[in-house]
Amino acid sequence: MKDFVAKRKELLREEVQKNNLTPTLAIIQVGANPASNSYVKGKLKDCAELGIEGQHINLPADISQQKLDNTMMYLSANPDVHGIIVQLPVPEHLHVKNELINKEKDVDGFRVDSPYTPCTPLGIMMFLKEKGISLVGKNVVIIGRSEIVGRPLAKLCLDAHATVTVCHSKTDNLQFYTQHADVIIVAVGKEKLLTRDMIGDNKPVVIDVGINRNAEGKLCGDCDYANLLDVCSYVSPVPGGVGLLTRLALMENTVKASKQ
Ligand code: NAD
Repeated sequence: MKDFVAKRKELLREEVQKNNLTPTLAIIQVGANPASNSYVKGKLKDCAELGIEGQHINLPADISQQKLDNTMMYLSANPDVHGIIVQLPVPEHLHVKNELINKEKDVDGFRVDSPYTPCTPLGIMMFLKEKGISLVGKNVVIIGRSEIVGRPLAKLCLDAHATVTVCHSKTDNLQFYTQHADVIIVAVGKEKLLTRDMIGDNKPVVIDVGINRNAEGKLCGDCDYANLLDVCSYVSPVPGGVGLLTRLALMENTVKASKQ
């Protein structure tokens, strides 16, 4: 994945330069959640590498709903800003109203009418395409039905002519579905949710979206990675996997927004 991301970033950087673009991405962060700090840092680093202007708007954790709304509306009305995202999570007293972001600037693709594909699903589809993994006629099992990953991904896989099953917390006998899958995409947030006994004989491709901390405090995904490698044709690593694809897709959407 790292090579693929590096190659795509280089192409994006050239595109920005050649077209004399100054894409500007505003990242609103509320408070200083340590995980958010590191995600924002990564996004700003990507921006700097690609010639995108990354603006970090760090609001205090106790900010009012009205002030957060005003910040979103102000950026949305600013013609120099092409993309706006709100780093999640925000403190519990706040609600992120994505409808306050002009849909043309909703580079996270969270509005139902956003012209952009949500970043994690977009990154995964770009990667599968690059690897030459066709989904036509394949059994794709997606575990997790969130609005930002599972659901939009199901639509993209259907559009790519896969037969799609979306599993979730109420699914009975999850392993029945995973054992018949050609591609498994797991986005739950539980360490070792996908284990060796859940894999069938057809050597599936496994894409691990989950981000967890194990008992030693190390980052890990939702798969029992080491024990899946020989029964799968590919297992994406965590870290160094889908997180990079998500970041890449955000940059792709931002450059696209700056061309509108
Ligand atoms: P979420 O946290 O909103 O929901 C989790 C989903 O998992 C729900 O749909 C639920 O039904 C399902 N689920 C829970 N327990 C289950 C079980 N035992 N069996 C089957 N399904 C179960 O989902 P999300 O926001 O898509 O996040 C999922 C994970 O992906 C989290 O770890 C998150 O941090 C990670 N994530 C990573 C990236 C990335 O770029 N790598 C991006 C988004 C989310």
